[in-house]
Amino acid sequence: MDSETIILDGRKTRDKIVEDLTEKVKDSVKEYGRPPGLATVLVGEDPASNVYVNMKVKTCKKIGIHSVKRVFQHNLKLEKLLDYIDELNDDERIDGILVQMPLPGELDEHKTEVVNRIRPDKDVDGFSPRNIGLNEFGDETFGSCTPKGMIRLLEEYDLPIRGQEVVIVNRTNVIGKPLAMMFINRDGTVTVCHSKTRDLDFHMKRADILAVGVGRVNFITPNRIKKGVIVLDAGINRDEEGDLCGDADFHAIKHKCKAITPVPGGVGPMTIAMLMENTYLSYLKHVQSD
Ligand code: NAP
Repeated sequence: MDSETIILDGRKTRDKIVEDLTEKVKDSVKEYGRPPGLATVLVGEDPASNVYVNMKVKTCKKIGIHSVKRVFQHNLKLEKLLDYIDELNDDERIDGILVQMPLPGELDEHKTEVVNRIRPDKDVDGFSPRNIGLNEFGDETFGSCTPKGMIRLLEEYDLPIRGQEVVIVNRTNVIGKPLAMMFINRDGTVTVCHSKTRDLDFHMKRADILAVGVGRVNFITPNRIKKGVIVLDAGINRDEEGDLCGDADFHAIKHKCKAITPVPGGVGPMTIAMLMENTYLSYLKHVQSD
């Protein structure tokens, strides 16, 4: 199967989405008189979070999205953060607000309060209860970005979901739960696994589509999957050499897969592409209701 394995190219797909959005934004600015706006909020000096935020800012610039980046010190008080979110909620040039997670120290215990403070129509990360609920009803306008990107990759490559056995190894609010709903919305038959799942191999081996986000190098090996599976790998890890890799042992399992996402270059770029798309969709809702 090796030569036929489809590599689900997240960078190429992202570039296509970015190009398409760039054209749309150009036309929309002419029509509505202002560009879409995205505010990113970073608390603390976590290097990985800083890299993610900068990538988002760079992609905004490429598309023509007005971007505001605010960095606060790690010892920021909750009230100050909530006040700043209120300011962004009231700012008519801002269509999307993203608070980079995880928050440092004790602030992280208040993440639900922080997410809930963002006006739902500006919650482009799709983490607020309202947007999670809408996702369940099949409205994925503000669908959580990583799962939305995983689904979009399948769609871009015309890989069917209807009737497929989908196994997800991750039950978080960021990946597993919204992803399960998106697969159900498309008639997949979904099993969600986690660290307490009794017989993980039993489930993984029967998957037509296996979506993983565990955070462990070489978690998916050839003996754990069936031939012809589609693997969506959201994991971001460092191998022994310090190189970026996913949860799957990519080179060892590739030959058994119908399709697979590489790491880097698979799910990661799609997450940013979906954030940009969500921001544009939010913008359209705002300017068209003015
Ligand atoms: P997390 O909060 O630690 O969640 C990991 C999930 O994997 C949990 O549901 C956990 O189960 C499950 N798990 C852990 N060990 C397991 C085992 N031995 N068997 C079965 N399930 C197991 O991590 P996360 O924030 O969701 O991130 C997961 C990975 O995705 C990380 O590598 C992260 O860097 C990456 N990520 C990538 C993107 C992207 O844009 N590509 C976005 C977000 C995250 P329990 O719930 O039982 O603990």
